[in-house]
Order: sequence, then structure tokens, then C-alpha cells
Amino acid sequence: MITVASPDAPLLEKALRAARDTRHLAVGEGLRHIAAESFASAFGSAAAVIVADANTFEAAGRDVLAAFQREGVSYETPFLFGTDVRADFEDVERLEAALRELEAVPVAVGSGTINDLTKLVAHRLRRPYMTVATAASMDGYTAFGASITHHGSKQTFDCPGPRAVVADLEVIAGAPDGMNASGYADLLAKNVAGADWTLAEAAGVEPIDPDVWQTVQGRLRSWIGSPAGVASHDPDALRGLVSGLLICGFAMQAHQTSRPASGAEHQFSHLWDMQDHIFRGVAPSHGFKVGIGTLASLALYQDLLARELETIDVGRAVAAWPTFEQDDRRIARLFVSDALAGKAAKETRAKHPSPDELADQLLRLQREWPALRERLARHLIPFAEARDLLRAAGCPDRPEAIGISSRRLRDSFEQAYFIRRRFTILDVFRRFGILEDALESIWAPTGPFGDAP
Ligand SMILES: [Zn+2]
Repeated sequence: MITVASPDAPLLEKALRAARDTRHLAVGEGLRHIAAESFASAFGSAAAVIVADANTFEAAGRDVLAAFQREGVSYETPFLFGTDVRADFEDVERLEAALRELEAVPVAVGSGTINDLTKLVAHRLRRPYMTVATAASMDGYTAFGASITHHGSKQTFDCPGPRAVVADLEVIAGAPDGMNASGYADLLAKNVAGADWTLAEAAGVEPIDPDVWQTVQGRLRSWIGSPAGVASHDPDALRGLVSGLLICGFAMQAHQTSRPASGAEHQFSHLWDMQDHIFRGVAPSHGFKVGIGTLASLALYQDLLARELETIDVGRAVAAWPTFEQDDRRIARLFVSDALAGKAAKETRAKHPSPDELADQLLRLQREWPALRERLARHLIPFAEARDLLRAAGCPDRPEAIGISSRRLRDSFEQAYFIRRRFTILDVFRRFGILEDALESIWAPTGPFGDAP
């Protein structure tokens, strides 16, 4: 079942059909008042239990509960987290202990944290669940997987998406400052994610799923086309933003990985998560970190597009390729925490090509470069344009605005390579041995992160 008043309805319908877990979707104004109908059509006569925090309960949960009462949906007393709720494992265990006692379908009323906690707990209890989105803050509502802090580091746990989703645009328009801007940055980031997948295919590392790629990229420019409207809570701009984020989540469900929606730009964000980055007492939002990661990645793409890849000496690059042991020593220098270094070593080994495999990847990229360069140039949003879009949407557009110094960002280009096995533009620069050279020009006075006005 799908109820969506939006030009994106046909695409949402198509993405929903390809999704594995979600079957019911409603997007529109005031839909919290009819959440009972969505619940009943997805779960029949089952009982519901709302999971929220004090703020999201006030913003939407109370009205959802009233709708359950009115429509005769049976329900348990809502489970309310404090407003300081964090997506960590203690909260997972607390929620799981409470829900285990109840025979009820969880209804997550909230944004990222509430959804990730509910998603993982529902999976651990082997129950389906429903989501009522209260902000367009990220693409995780409909995604496969939940991002939870476990043993001190943020991890993605594989688990299904919700069976039913309700996105009330009225509630989303009233979301606290910065939340919808965060979602905007998470959506803009898909431009890089799509380019990275293109590079991975060209290098012979990971084929593109054309349907899934097109689902995310086909209307991306229109979804991100009204940044000022997102900042001013314009209903049409928010409708596009919400549709785009939900569709990206469905694409991840269909592909069963985050590849369609996450590339190098997310690796910057994950790196800063793993380093427990705090600015002014709080962790900057996922979207804001991804936004800066997007600018960093686009700066690298700008450098790549200006290169004649086919003139690079592959034999020299292969000869200079580090062994496992050299990588391990480099990792030990780059990461102070043993846990992080261990994780980085594991991820790096998983994608480490032998010299023959490396030569094959580089020769493929060289052979394809003229056509590939044209394709990427058509696809990519230029660095300066992306920075203007972020600024207009109310997102940070400089690393310092989220507490990442210029020096630290520069180090992050190398560190981000090591923390995930996913092949991205970072791998292309490292494999060709041109990263240091690129960083020099990115930080040259007239470069993207140089200090020329
Ligand atoms: Zn994201």
C-alpha cells in the first residue's frame, strides 16, 4: 500500500516494490492522525507499542496514540527514552528488556536514534516494526541496517527495514533547527556515492546494479534542487527531500548493502565517528559530517578529472604498492587507538589487491579513462556548486564549522581509506600513488581548501 502526494509517487512505488522489507508507505501532511490505518493495514489486529523520546512523543507520538485510541488499535503504554537518548548498546538492551515482556509491534516515533534502536531491537525480538518519521534528517528510516555504538565504536548492524513507514510532512516541517538540513547533506552525498560505484565498476572491483543506481541517481538533482526551501521549511522542498531519502533507503534494502547510497564521503564521517569526534560538547550530526565528507570527495574528483590517468606509469605504481606489513605499520602510525587500528587493518586486508590484481585494476581504469572521465564530468556536482548548495540549505560548508581543522581534514583523506573495505575514489588515488600530489593541489592557495578568498 502506498499513499504519497508527490511527483515522486511513481518512483517511490517502484523503489518500494524492489525493497525487501517495507510494504506500506504513506507520505503527506497530517498523516500522524491516520497512523492507525497504516498500522492496521500492515499488522492487522496486532497490538502496538510506541517507542519515542519526550520531544518526539510531543511532536507526533501523542497524536499517533490518540489515533490508535480512536480507531480501536490496541496498544501498550509507550516506551519513552529521555531526550539524552544515544544510539548505544545499553539503550538497545534496555528497550529489548522492556519490549520482550510485551506482545506488541514496536512503532518508532522519532528520527535517527529512535529508529536505529527500534530497528535493531525489533530484529533481535524477531518482530516487524513501523516507523513514524519526525525529521528528514538522514536516509536510515527505510535502510537495511542500524548504526549503533557497541564497545565504544559505531557499528552498522545488519537488520531489516520497517514493514510500514509514515512520514508526516507537517511534523517534519516543524523539526528542530538543522535536522532537515542534515538530511539534505546526506542526500547531496549520493552524488559522490554514485561516482564511487562507477569507479569501482570501471576498476573491475564491483559491478553496478543499473536499476538500483538509477533509482538513487535518476532524480537526485531535482530532490536537492531547492536548498533554500529546505531551510525555510517549504512543503514542496521538504516533500522532495523526504521522497529522496526514503527512496535511497529502499535502494539499500533492494541491494542489501549501503553501496548505492554511501561512498568515500561517508567514510570521512565514519572515521570521525570512530575517533569520537565532539564539537562544542556534542557529536555533529551524521548529515553535517557527510556534507563535509562530500566536499572533500568532490575536491578529489575535481583533481582526478584534470588528470591524464593513462600517462601514469603502472609498473611504478605496482612496484611502490605496500605489503600487508607496510600497511600495518602505516596504520599503527595513523591510528592511536588499538581498537581502531585493528579494525583498519582488517578492512584494509579485505580489499588489498595482489600486485597482479592491482596492475589489472589500474590498466582497466586507464583503458576506460577517456569515456569514464566524460561520464564522471557529466554526473558530478562541481565542488563550488556543492558548497553553495550546502550553504543555502543551512549546512556547514567548511570543515572548521563542525570542528575539523584543515590539518585534520588533510590527514583524514589518508585515514578514511583504511577504515572501510569499500572501493572508492580514495582507493583510486592510493593505488595510482597520487594522493599526496592531489592533497598538495587541493590545499594550494587557489585550491578547494586553500585559503585564497
Ligand atoms: Zn548517510
